[in-house]
Amino acid sequence: MIASWRPAVLAGLVLVAAGCSGAPENVDWASTGLEWDEQHYSPLDQINADNAGQLGLAWYADLNTDRGQEATPLVVDGVLFNTEPWNITTAYDAATGEQLWRYDPQVPLRFGRLACCDIVTRGLGYHDGKVIIGALDGRLIALDAASGEEVWSVQTTAPADNYTITGAPRVYGDKVLIGNGGAEMGVRGYVSAYDANSGELLWRWHTVPGNPAEGFENAAMEMAAETWSGEYWLSGGGGTVWDAISYDPELSLVYIGTGNGSPWSQKWRDPEGGDNLFLASIVALDAETGEYRWHYQTVPGEEWDYTATQQMVLADIALDGESMPVLMQAPKNGFFYVLDRRDGTLLSAETIAPINWATGIDMETGRPIENPEARYGEVPVMVSPGAGGVHNWNPMAYSPDTGLVYIPVTETYMAYADAPTYEPGQGLGTAFGGHDDIRREIAEYADEHSKGWLAAWDPVTQTEVWRVAYPQKGSGGVLATGGNLVFQGTIGTTFAAYRADNGEKVWEMPVQNVPIAAPITYMVDGEQYIAVNAGWGGGLAHVERAQFSELFLGPPRLLVFKLGGTAQLPPMPEESFVVPELSPPPPLEASPEQVAAGEALYGQHCAVCHGNGARGGVKDLRHMSPETHAAFADIVLGGSRAANGMASFADLIGDDEAAAIHDYLIARANEDWVGE
Ligand code: CA
Repeated sequence: MIASWRPAVLAGLVLVAAGCSGAPENVDWASTGLEWDEQHYSPLDQINADNAGQLGLAWYADLNTDRGQEATPLVVDGVLFNTEPWNITTAYDAATGEQLWRYDPQVPLRFGRLACCDIVTRGLGYHDGKVIIGALDGRLIALDAASGEEVWSVQTTAPADNYTITGAPRVYGDKVLIGNGGAEMGVRGYVSAYDANSGELLWRWHTVPGNPAEGFENAAMEMAAETWSGEYWLSGGGGTVWDAISYDPELSLVYIGTGNGSPWSQKWRDPEGGDNLFLASIVALDAETGEYRWHYQTVPGEEWDYTATQQMVLADIALDGESMPVLMQAPKNGFFYVLDRRDGTLLSAETIAPINWATGIDMETGRPIENPEARYGEVPVMVSPGAGGVHNWNPMAYSPDTGLVYIPVTETYMAYADAPTYEPGQGLGTAFGGHDDIRREIAEYADEHSKGWLAAWDPVTQTEVWRVAYPQKGSGGVLATGGNLVFQGTIGTTFAAYRADNGEKVWEMPVQNVPIAAPITYMVDGEQYIAVNAGWGGGLAHVERAQFSELFLGPPRLLVFKLGGTAQLPPMPEESFVVPELSPPPPLEASPEQVAAGEALYGQHCAVCHGNGARGGVKDLRHMSPETHAAFADIVLGGSRAANGMASFADLIGDDEAAAIHDYLIARANEDWVGE
């Protein structure tokens, strides 16, 4: 029985509220965090800590794309809307799983090259009978929710630039907000608001300044420009709004989280080493006009890919006996921040995992107390966390019942060094090669010490209340419910429920894949369901696939559970993903100079997807088959595997450069070959 609803803030939606007569019949999940406060918490309690052991599969749907499934589905009025890599969007009867329509926006395959961390999408928006997609190629597309037909479509980016969209559009009132990614690819970040009925652009706010010679868009950009030096605009600057957006209707503020610098290395981005506003910041904007209101920068002079794009949860919590309107974020950098969301005042910040880049936050200035050794130079240094962060995009959840925040936490380490040379638009300015002995030592330490767990964090006392430890990092986003439950997909290829108050496991089911996305819950005809996408991939899998080589995975699927569900997954297919038998690499014939040239080119063009030092990545290129070696130029220049996301690089490199990269990969394969 649901005692009360929080104010139903989702405009245009009718939540059938619980009257005295009993539970609501249909309860939606119509925005990615359920409500604008992004709590990922539902008060539904038909499924609860006492009966969760009876959960079973209600229905499932195979997904079409075998890449990271990061999307939070939506449910409106008994229809479940889902979206997959390449923004393929589907509608299902939320109770039976019958597919109602499927829409493929035909994203040009070349955009696969621009998405740093897999061709993923994290969700959809919903507005008054329309489902809204942020497509990888920068389009914002509104579909008729009943038919899947396009209602309007607008290009939110310059298609020639290196922008991609992976975040979910957020709808409030008649506005839809969308950011973009590309800070690994030399772009300048911004967020835009569109009219949800027409697709008309209402306002746009850049996160970093452009070229001063062209004039600043607003006073905030002028202020920001004073924290940059050199010709920073040539490299875009970064600060992309690639995921989190929250909204407070009472304060009429929109909160955006901004990303890392472009390029990564501050030496190459800003030789004087300024704060570089508004990188790695939480920024509050006027919801009506998009004007700057306040900001809090988590990492001044950011250079470790420490984005502050992670979800921002709004809640009212009791601090010193007083109810405070706060914004809470656990960004990549390892701190848990509590801010007064009216004016951005920092109320508290503590680390949720071991880190070494900073020892704490100076509460007078709000600035991190940095470890000077973390500011890297030419020789690699081990910094914690690595670029994957202590907490990444995988949503956390806040339960107003327990007052706890449930966070998928990761402990990571990574080697950072300045690239010896850098040209604007050419790579990250951060080196992933050279000093092999130091790198090997750091990689070994990282492999040994990296781990992941689910933490229940008390934002008032800034302490961990309980944790569920996993054998390794890589578990998924989180849902909290009024049933005293927390749901999470695990790296052990299971989906699990824990008691929200004490972390006791009450249910777990093998699901043949890793649900890295956030689960949702909804009700149709008085019956409560839990849904989650299960499909391993995304940034972590991309860059560190070698560490997950023991994963044995079935097909990616949308999974829906209910009490007493009796549906069965088919048996694991024989041809499930396993690390293939490796063939010995071809002998190295190239000169050391040729290999070094290939290494530099690899760092510029390939490392983002294929891993540092050709280790791991979306495809570990040390393990190319003889067929792939033979087809190397066809793939790299001819685009013969574009449909798999490997677009042609013929516009950037020629035959000689492709051959040098190939020689470097052959050298790496021989270095690391341990087979018979
Ligand atoms: Ca990044």
